[in-house]
Amino acid sequence: MIENKKSFKALNQNSNDADIKDLIYKINKNKIIEFNKNLFKDEYLCICSGGTTSSCAKNNQITVDLRKNYKQISYDKNTGVATIGGGVLMGDLLNYLEKFNRMFPIGLSKLPGIGYILTGGISPLSKRYGLAIDNLLNVKGFFGNGDFFSLDIDNLNKKEIPIWEGIKGAAPFFSIITEVAIQTFENFPIQVFDGFVEEEELKELIAISETFPKNFSFQFIFSDNIYVYIVGELKTEEEKDLAQKYISIFQRFPSLKNKIYRNLNQINFFPKELNIFELNANLHSEVISLLGKSLKGYESEFVEELIEINAAKPNKACYVAIQQLGDQSMFENKYSSYFIHREACWKPWIFASWEKNNNHDKKLVINWMNEAWNKLRRFFPYIHLAQLHNHLNSHQDELKLAFGSKLDELKDLKRIYDPSNILPPL
Ligand SMILES: Cc1cc2nc3c(=O)[nH]c(=O)nc-3n(C[C@H](O)[C@H](O)[C@H](O)COP(=O)(O)OP(=O)(O)OC[C@H]3O[C@@H](n4cnc5c(N)ncnc54)[C@H](O)[C@@H]3O)c2cc1C
Repeated sequence: MIENKKSFKALNQNSNDADIKDLIYKINKNKIIEFNKNLFKDEYLCICSGGTTSSCAKNNQITVDLRKNYKQISYDKNTGVATIGGGVLMGDLLNYLEKFNRMFPIGLSKLPGIGYILTGGISPLSKRYGLAIDNLLNVKGFFGNGDFFSLDIDNLNKKEIPIWEGIKGAAPFFSIITEVAIQTFENFPIQVFDGFVEEEELKELIAISETFPKNFSFQFIFSDNIYVYIVGELKTEEEKDLAQKYISIFQRFPSLKNKIYRNLNQINFFPKELNIFELNANLHSEVISLLGKSLKGYESEFVEELIEINAAKPNKACYVAIQQLGDQSMFENKYSSYFIHREACWKPWIFASWEKNNNHDKKLVINWMNEAWNKLRRFFPYIHLAQLHNHLNSHQDELKLAFGSKLDELKDLKRIYDPSNILPPL
């Protein structure tokens, strides 16, 4: 079972630097049963799909790296359904689908793996196509107890419905997903307005974006400069006419460039000048993601709060960013999910980064992250659990704010399907 653990590389620098206990590339029932018997207390399996989070590898824990043996992608032209392995990156998925003029509503980066899908998956196109979990059709994998499962949305029995719902948003706590089938969509041109704006302009743009139709969304990063992205999918003639209306509205913001991309796959969000997604080998980081309702009437207060948060940040590598959801993402599909805050219209995330091996710096930065979170709570009281933080003090708070009254049901699922706690703890 022992593979060369030194060969492990992750995009997330914390995980990349972890002194892992062991690395495995392939799982099966017997291996998992072995873990059930042999893992020490507080030992559990870290699962790596895209390797973009701080929880896919940890000191003295075993990592199951799905990127080697679970990279398969296929597409069925007759149904529009793509089937992908548990180690597929969202960028690879889009590249593959582009050959068929199809796309999947991925997030603002092509780097994440299927952790993006399993934890909800908020796309700049979610207002039209829903969350990534809303487009799941079939899921295969192993429970923490070793049992293999294959679940199909059109064929669930009574016992399988709570499992299906759990997989939509909370899969990492009780299962290892080796394959998912997802609904894909035809590609359409995407209009993007982007550029640096001033604080007052940002307030105005937030107010405008609150009235956007479902094919338009707004995202921005607030660092020493403010960079905004307005994304509009142009599917119908009516939407093309509407885009003209926005072109004239956004003329008031002279720094915004306006460009039409052939499809979602052609867009690389956030310019390199901002250095925000730079995978700096000397820095470690954590990200916390929040959820909240409409900012109507609070645009100014919110931006003032961001100004204070930005002024208090301990270093230039920290920032706050936000993406817009709503419209279709407010609705569950056939079954419900563990993304319970369907009323959410905004997801801000706080990116906290420090010089690695500098505990003093780390403490300051995590404090700043928590203080920023406190300041933003009145606008965004809930959590999007896109990153697992069982190594941080905020973990229990985050679980409650992510799963609310469903947390007890999730604990039940974990008791049944991961009885020895071989997967990340709740
Ligand atoms: C640059 C960047 C931009 C992002 N933009 C967005 C965005 O626009 N919208 C959005 O919603 N999110 C966004 N995210 C967040 C991202 O989608 C989540 O953090 C996601 O969990 C990362 O998935 P991964 O596979 O890369 O992570 P990994 O680090 O590989 O895994 C993350 C966690 O998910 C679990 N996991 C992963 N795969 C499996 C599996 N197959 N079975 C069971 N458990 C598994 C693991 O336990 C692990 O702890 C962004 C992240 C980054 C780095």
